[in-house]
Amino acid sequence: MKKAKILTTPHMERCIGCHSCSLACARLVYKKLSWDTAGIRIVSSGGLSTGFEAKSCLACDPAPCALACPTGAFSQRRGGGVLVKRKLCIQCGDCAEACPVDAIYLAPTWEPFVCIHCGQCVAFCPHHCLEMVEMSLGAAPAAEGKEVAS
Ligand code: SF4
Ligand code: SF4
Repeated sequence: MKKAKILTTPHMERCIGCHSCSLACARLVYKKLSWDTAGIRIVSSGGLSTGFEAKSCLACDPAPCALACPTGAFSQRRGGGVLVKRKLCIQCGDCAEACPVDAIYLAPTWEPFVCIHCGQCVAFCPHHCLEMVEMSLGAAPAAEGKEVAS
């Protein structure tokens, strides 16, 4: 059976809030420099003593953000989450509004940034907080490849 991998955040109790994961995503996936313009963002859970949380895509299937997107810029990814075609995005913000866990960052221009489950951030975490996990796929035909960098 075919498998797809998704990004998970199973060990956030070890997170020191260094933002290495976000910076890796911003730089490698989105060709940006700010840790906000990334598919994973790290926020304090209430103070240094209470640690940090990751805001990242939960790989919904069906994905509410893809269903809300009026242009097909976000479409369903096999295994959960979304494929992104940035050239189709009209910056309406509907995807971010539809996400139940606030996993999509909207830049001031309303350009959306979301995890595409590529796993490139995992190796950059010095405390091994992140993991790629294999999901079994159904028999549906393969989706088209993702397209992120514009
Ligand atoms: S971005 Fe949000 S709504 Fe879209 S698949 Fe991920 S968790 Fe679900
Ligand atoms: S790289 Fe790891 S330790 Fe650093 S912010 Fe991300 S999850 Fe936390």
